[in-house]
Amino acid sequence: MASDVILKDVNKVYPNGFHAVYDFNIEIEKGEFIVLAGPSGCGKSTTLRMIAGLEEISSGDLIINGKRVNDVAPKDRDIAMVFQNYALYAHMTVYHNLAFSLTIRKVDPVEIHARVMKAAEILGLVPYLNRKPKQLSGGQRQRVACGRAIVRDPVVFLLDEPLSNLDAKLRGSMRKELMLLHDRLNATFVYVTHDQIEALTLATRIVVMKDGYVQQIATPKEMYDNPANIFVAGFIGTPPMNFYNGKISKDGKKFEHISGTSFKLTANQVAALAEYADKEIVMASRPDYVYVDDASLEKNSGSVFDLKVDYYEYLGSYKLVYGTIGDSEAIIAKIDGRDIVDAAVVKACYDMNKVHFYDKETTNLIV
Ligand code: ATP
Repeated sequence: MASDVILKDVNKVYPNGFHAVYDFNIEIEKGEFIVLAGPSGCGKSTTLRMIAGLEEISSGDLIINGKRVNDVAPKDRDIAMVFQNYALYAHMTVYHNLAFSLTIRKVDPVEIHARVMKAAEILGLVPYLNRKPKQLSGGQRQRVACGRAIVRDPVVFLLDEPLSNLDAKLRGSMRKELMLLHDRLNATFVYVTHDQIEALTLATRIVVMKDGYVQQIATPKEMYDNPANIFVAGFIGTPPMNFYNGKISKDGKKFEHISGTSFKLTANQVAALAEYADKEIVMASRPDYVYVDDASLEKNSGSVFDLKVDYYEYLGSYKLVYGTIGDSEAIIAKIDGRDIVDAAVVKACYDMNKVHFYDKETTNLIV
């Protein structure tokens, strides 16, 4: 399948000398939903704005639909952008907001009408075509903003935090609408967010960035199951991953936590961690894989520890237990809502098959 958008060694150095994006490489297939995610200031908007042509590319190549477009004006790039503050024209009706970009491009009026009506149908905006933006709800305004992109019939849709101004409930329903819209249009989306839930729910592939560097590019499942480094492990997933400092035992068969508790490694881990015997290492695991029930404790007898409970939140089908291993590192455990954790210290265990080990120096995933 042909790639729709290719970024090859793309760098951005702002005129003040600040290096905002380093060697960004990706080949985006037609119809993908790529989410650029990361904390504030990591360079995701800069990357999107370089694709849009709103920011000059300092070095590297940007290829859209087989053509190098570094020096092509934004309006000629076959892209359409939806911004966070939808930027609708307050004095125009929904119809004219949708038609505007085509009118200024002098598209044939019959064609404009057909495209506006098609976009309005896709987005369920037909009943609102004669309203002004202030007579719409936040979600409807957001749909008009998407509609303005759809009428342009671009190869690539670029979206910069389009849901960040909406309340939590509306964000949820707009996420669903965006997924459906993406399916219906079968177009390529590149979407910027700092919200890891949007990244996990919307993306075909997520790009996590930090300090201008790409940390990992992977499907949501791959990224959740196997975060490439400690940063990605901490960024993707709520509640966040638990991290433990300790070392591999001299015989290479156990992880010895600083609290004195040891965890028996699986055969696979013993093999992969051979060169780490007697060396410091970071163990990490999702709160989902901590268990306190008798059957699990018996099954995982090599990874039982004392969980000192500070408090817990009951959330219906599950409980979130906040505590520490022994007296040392903080741990969050997501356990079955029926499990009882009333004592100050309870016996808990890990499913060691679900535990990751990271190199303490490089922070990269070992196994
Ligand atoms: P946010 O989620 O806060 O929008 P972001 O990941 O999108 O963050 P960018 O807007 O891409 O971050 O900015 C990346 C870095 O580049 C930041 O440190 C920012 O301060 C810097 N930056 C952005 N615009 C300029 C500029 N015009 N000149 C110099 N530095 C800039």
